[in-house]
Amino acid sequence: MTAPVRLRTLDPHAYRPDFPILSKRVHGDVPLAYLDNAASTQRPRQVIQAIVEAYEEHYANVHRGIHTLAEESTALFEGAREKVRSLIHAPTVEQVIFTHGATAAINLVARSWGDSNLHEGDGVLVTEMEHHANLVPWHQLAERTGAKIQFIPVTDDGLLDLDKLDALLTERPRLVAVTAVSNVLGTINPLAEIIPRAHAAGALVLVDGAQSVPHQVTDAAAMDADFLVFSGHKMMGPSGVGVLYGKRELLESMPPFLGGGSMIRRVWIDSFTPADLPYKFEAGTPPIVPAIGLGAAIDYLNDVGLEAVHEHERRLTQRAHELLSEIDGVRILGPRPDQKAGIVSFWMGRIHAHDIAQRLDRRGIAVRPGHHCAMPLHKRFDVSATARASFYLYNTFEEVERLGEAVAECKHFFQRRR
Ligand code: PLP
Repeated sequence: MTAPVRLRTLDPHAYRPDFPILSKRVHGDVPLAYLDNAASTQRPRQVIQAIVEAYEEHYANVHRGIHTLAEESTALFEGAREKVRSLIHAPTVEQVIFTHGATAAINLVARSWGDSNLHEGDGVLVTEMEHHANLVPWHQLAERTGAKIQFIPVTDDGLLDLDKLDALLTERPRLVAVTAVSNVLGTINPLAEIIPRAHAAGALVLVDGAQSVPHQVTDAAAMDADFLVFSGHKMMGPSGVGVLYGKRELLESMPPFLGGGSMIRRVWIDSFTPADLPYKFEAGTPPIVPAIGLGAAIDYLNDVGLEAVHEHERRLTQRAHELLSEIDGVRILGPRPDQKAGIVSFWMGRIHAHDIAQRLDRRGIAVRPGHHCAMPLHKRFDVSATARASFYLYNTFEEVERLGEAVAECKHFFQRRR
């Protein structure tokens, strides 16, 4: 009999000293429990230091100069691109395009690939659980081209209703745009099933990895995604940098989106020829230091190990589900903990999510209230807003216990006032 594989247990206390902000006290002397990681994570000293060093010792614009600083800055920037390539197992570095975030990356695909490939009546298939970033650019594309948007519905359990997929695919959509992990439900979508089915129906697939790449191992080539996007600030990197990965032949066939410096090979007064990948899609000065910071964040993540991060978050989520389910009147949106990532969105009847978040904040617990840029999904569950707790590698079980106690206290507080 083979021994069961044991995942390495991650000790968040070993990493917390690297994150100065986590020892902050709020409202006088209340220790902070930062549970708003799906919106943006915190950065360790190693990332902050890499940013400081880049500005203090190596900064110049990239690619353009031959002086020492320009070469150092370019080497660091291109080094970061290689770190991204390796993280997502992209076959070549040219397939890694730096953007200003996941939103910018999706808009790039919608404008460049979408405008040149979609025509009146062509379909784009999204899901009912998409973040607005993977919805509105397709609406805008539909407005420009006459393409039509269809969606894969979400079941009452918060899973994609894949029974409907075959029927939707018989309409032969040109693109399926799907999130790897829902930023509200936490649902981990079965991409290994969806992508081959979409391909068999002749559709390309864009994967929104904003909530998956920071938390689990990603193999863009093995998953066979045509496009994959994510943001640096959700994985301990700076804001202002994100990534578009694409299949090489696709990226090569697509026209540049933004025009300007860096994205050209030659310019004449009346025409231009575009540069090769990846620069064709990086017009103007790129997010130099944010990309270098993202590279440092990837080093940090690799040291911790993404399998361990994923497993740690799974355990925190399991515990959060147990604690919140014990509180009468609390409803958790989304599937069972073993089907989801470290995101727990909940609501409590008539107590508004903003009141919950404000009450929790008094106890130092940072959660996010609202629709989390997923209005159609909230409408699907007939709830206007939820409170969302979301975890990362530095969150502790003690913090999850505090969340449970604070939600219970919150419920009693508002009940007494009624
Ligand atoms: N997609 C998902 C699933 C997200 O959660 C987010 C941000 O919350 C985005 C896309 C957009 O990311 P950004 O705002 O960094 O562009």
